[in-house]
Amino acid sequence: MSVRRFMMHSSAIRDGYASFDGDIYNHMVRVLRLGTGDAVQLSDEKGITYFGTITQVSKERVAVTITSSSPAIENDSTAPRITICQALPKGDKIDLILQKGTELGAHEFRLFGGRRSIAKIRDDQQSGKIERWNRITAEAARQCGRPDIPEVTWCPSAAAAANDSGQELRLILWEGEREHSLKDALSIGGKPSSVIVAIGPEGGFDPLEVSHFSQHGYQPVSLGSRILRTETASIAILAIMQYIWGEM
Ligand code: SAH
Repeated sequence: MSVRRFMMHSSAIRDGYASFDGDIYNHMVRVLRLGTGDAVQLSDEKGITYFGTITQVSKERVAVTITSSSPAIENDSTAPRITICQALPKGDKIDLILQKGTELGAHEFRLFGGRRSIAKIRDDQQSGKIERWNRITAEAARQCGRPDIPEVTWCPSAAAAANDSGQELRLILWEGEREHSLKDALSIGGKPSSVIVAIGPEGGFDPLEVSHFSQHGYQPVSLGSRILRTETASIAILAIMQYIWGEM
């Protein structure tokens, strides 16, 4: 039998061991019935592959001793590196955005607290949420057979999210835009090496936020006269970009 490969976050590795509970534990131990002495491959969010052997299995945890590693396998996607800069939506919609976005090849998710985001994240909830979101993209990457895992980061505001945007093409999907369509923006110039797209929450963008993004070189674009739900906009923009620039 070939050696099984698992997607994980590099934070699972410490001192030459990788330790897992939750989904990876279940998949490895309960579903595949792997145990002490079995060889496994682990790939992290940067695409680095680790080779190891299961050395300990308890009721809730499995430990893998790492024996060697190999550098990142390049993601063979031909699309640009796409960052989804998404205002936090209500409830569990974010799970859908992260899962579908990973399948559609998003490279990174930068989530931010929009002025009109109904959901709020307290400082003490941040690290738990970030961990959970990264588990969702890791699981989605595993499901769809991606060699890399899109990273999920958190910014408290649109202003913070707009900062540090070095991407070649920067767009903000704005329901208030009347002149410039997405089609116009994408038909100018060739394939960019990287793209970032800002998407507002259910309540839309506050004009102040639109100006923060504009100041950082984001072009406001319209998706037409119909107002899409935030999760629809996020999924649609990725599908469109993959169709134009990727291997779809
Ligand atoms: N409540 C707002 C709509 C918000 S839709 C209103 O009624 O005007 C949520 C987000 O999806 C928007 O902030 C925008 O980023 C994106 N979006 C949805 N439909 C869009 C459209 N037709 N054009 C551009 N962006 C759109």
